[in-house]
Amino acid sequence: MPRACTICTHTDLEAINRALVEGTPNRRIASQHDVTERAVRNHKANHLPETLAKAQEAEEVAQADDLLGQVQDLQARTLAILEAAEETREHRTALAAIREAHSNLELLAKLLGELDERPQLNILISPEWIELRTVIVGALEPHGEARVAALKAIEGIGNGRA
Ligand SMILES: [Zn+2]
Repeated sequence: MPRACTICTHTDLEAINRALVEGTPNRRIASQHDVTERAVRNHKANHLPETLAKAQEAEEVAQADDLLGQVQDLQARTLAILEAAEETREHRTALAAIREAHSNLELLAKLLGELDERPQLNILISPEWIELRTVIVGALEPHGEARVAALKAIEGIGNGRA
């Protein structure tokens, strides 16, 4: 069936779709927008569902995008805490921040994976995680005990026991 729909090509398409969703009678829509009632009925049955599905999909992507921004914000704050904790040698806080940063990355990877419609990214080979790990291990170099604890925690992540 060719898509020669007088509604789909109508300049008031959005208004008509909205009216249909709101339950406005076909006849009133037809007279208001100067189209046939039959065209309204046909459009409602065949084209409106697809339009609605697309709109919902777009909204979901937008929401995921928003969430991604929030997680990125959170990650930036977590890394700032980690940096401060390293400077003041608060190892316990640093370790907590490392754990937090790791779960943020996991969430980020998941969100990015969903946005890209790709299978989930493996965070252990993600450049962000490798960089973070290098920074952590380097920063803890002068602090023997904390370094051992951090390495243990990182290995736990590697074994999936985070
Ligand atoms: Zn249509």
